[in-house]
Amino acid sequence: MVVRELLVLLALSLPLAAQAKDRERCPYCKEDPSLMAGAGVLSHAPGVIADKGGEELIAKLPVSRWRFVETAHLRFASALGDSAIDQRDRERVEAELARLRAALPDVPSKPRKLDPWLRVHLQAMKGEEFYARFQALLQVKDADFSAERRLDAPYMGAGRFLGEKDKFEVVLHVSRENHRRFTESFSGVAVNDSFRWHFPGLHKLLVSVPVEDADLKDDRGLWPHIAHNLSHAFLCAYKHFSYDPPVWLDEGLAQALEKEFDPQSRTTEGEEGSLRDTKAPADFVAAATKLVASGKAPRLAQLMAAKDYSELGTDGSVTAWSITRFLMDAHGERYARFLGGIKGQLDAQGMPSGEDLPGLQRKLLRELWDWSPLDVDEAWRVWVKAGGHASGKQ
Ligand SMILES: [Zn+2]
Ligand SMILES: [Zn+2]
Repeated sequence: MVVRELLVLLALSLPLAAQAKDRERCPYCKEDPSLMAGAGVLSHAPGVIADKGGEELIAKLPVSRWRFVETAHLRFASALGDSAIDQRDRERVEAELARLRAALPDVPSKPRKLDPWLRVHLQAMKGEEFYARFQALLQVKDADFSAERRLDAPYMGAGRFLGEKDKFEVVLHVSRENHRRFTESFSGVAVNDSFRWHFPGLHKLLVSVPVEDADLKDDRGLWPHIAHNLSHAFLCAYKHFSYDPPVWLDEGLAQALEKEFDPQSRTTEGEEGSLRDTKAPADFVAAATKLVASGKAPRLAQLMAAKDYSELGTDGSVTAWSITRFLMDAHGERYARFLGGIKGQLDAQGMPSGEDLPGLQRKLLRELWDWSPLDVDEAWRVWVKAGGHASGKQ
């Protein structure tokens, strides 16, 4: 028995060792454990991605090279090449590189472009920063989540990653065709635009992005779009993805966090995926201010009734974003409890239940603020008129 196991191990380890040798070594962390630890990187090896190993991804979706990075809460698989640096964006990029250089001394200060390894290291760094931002918004920390559901404590889902059992994954494809083949391989549907998926048996969420269109080609446009998709994935995961969160709340939050990276950026949701939208109102603050001034803003009660993104429409999206910003900026502590209540509803048997979410929202507004949806509309209008957006993050 011992001998047989040893043989199996040898058989498995030989090809892996050969692959590791073939694998291009990262020139920044040099895969040195102490440098990697400083940069928050656990591994560059092709680990598990989706329902496959990273090696299978390499074999089935051939591109010049896949690069992998795993951090405490995320895994990225990227087939992307170099990214140009927009002159108008140089200051922001150099500030990010300076943060990375604190851990990795070989990171250049004024590169002409971002090479693929720099890009994955920046994604790893910004991904973890974004995870921390999201946890702060929910007012939770890693220690609040245990590997299994605990029956002796308030309900927090069933895993260590906001309530899911495994890490969040982001797969960046160099072509739409590869993205279509990849999404079809686990969901059965070849999808055109960015796509999010929950693997029920594996209890993890994945984002797949076709990085083909001009507006996603460089990191300036790509990162806010990834953040939008991760916001949806994180909120769905919170206390385990057992039912869809209310559309206005989910979309309002994703837009708000996307715009913290770039106020001009906007991702819209369609039938089969999300798309970085270049035709949306460029200035959401102006659009929200105008809606309030005209008295034509949709009511929160209408937003709460929307069952999909198309029902929100442009005015609904702007209003959902603006109300979200109001709750985050002026009522952060109660907003965190509001999200926690909506994501963690249990039925009489103690099982997660998405029953009557409009009713649940009304109940939580009453409990936390003593507000009706009409009171929210009124308080939000006062906040917008008083220049609330100018004092917040956007
Ligand atoms: Zn590295
Ligand atoms: Zn969205």
